[in-house]
Amino acid sequence: MSLDPSYPLIDIGVNLTHRQFASDRPLVIERARAAGVVQQVVTGTSVASSKAALLLARDHAGELWATAGIHPHDASAYDVAALASLRALSLERGPRGEALVVAVGECGLDYDRGFSPRDAQRRCFAALLALAVQLQKPVFLHERAAHADFVAMLREHRASLAGAVVHCFTGNLAELESYLELGCHIGVTGYLLDDRRAGELRRAIARVPLERLMLETDAPFLLPPSARKSHGRRNEPALLPLVLEEVARVTGHERQAIARITTENARRFFGLGPTVAGP
Ligand SMILES: [Zn+2]
Repeated sequence: MSLDPSYPLIDIGVNLTHRQFASDRPLVIERARAAGVVQQVVTGTSVASSKAALLLARDHAGELWATAGIHPHDASAYDVAALASLRALSLERGPRGEALVVAVGECGLDYDRGFSPRDAQRRCFAALLALAVQLQKPVFLHERAAHADFVAMLREHRASLAGAVVHCFTGNLAELESYLELGCHIGVTGYLLDDRRAGELRRAIARVPLERLMLETDAPFLLPPSARKSHGRRNEPALLPLVLEEVARVTGHERQAIARITTENARRFFGLGPTVAGP
């Protein structure tokens, strides 16, 4: 799928360090570029994956950036040494002195699957919120089935945070309102394309002010159903235009308008420099 190249897209959430991309990562980046996805923010979900994301960002300066964090699923692995590592990674600089780690995260709470005990999740989340405040970097947030605790913790730090994006928002209208009221940006994924799950989500997304919206694939996860035939099970950043198309449909705006504003939002939110791969 191609797009008018004068309207480049930015994928703000790609798990490019995932083992599913180990064998063909350069091709995945190449295909994204060809599809108009000119910049990507690579998600760090553990110390190891944050380090790997940073290395990718260094190798692809101007095209890839990294986040540094610990996913709530991995919160049991959090300790002071992990925090020190994430802080050190976050301070690394690119070839032109630019920040390579543009957000603290993935971080948050996930009570849905319970891969880490809830108290461990809260401890980890609190530490990463404090790190983001200290570094004055925005947070890249994950919340699932933990809305009340999550909002309470976020509210506590919100005034001192540089910015906050609720990545892969899948909640209802009331949850959306509370995020907007806290000044959060909203990350939209291919979850919006899944008819079985997206009814209420579509109504909520239609209500997000455009200046708060950003697009992401969350690849290799959340493959849009319409791409199953061509892509099997693995999502990739080149499929971001499918999310764009659905956001345009749901909000009633032109694709190009959504592309332009979400790209501007992402550049401003993460402080990304101009792209090296396109306009
Ligand atoms: Zn997530």
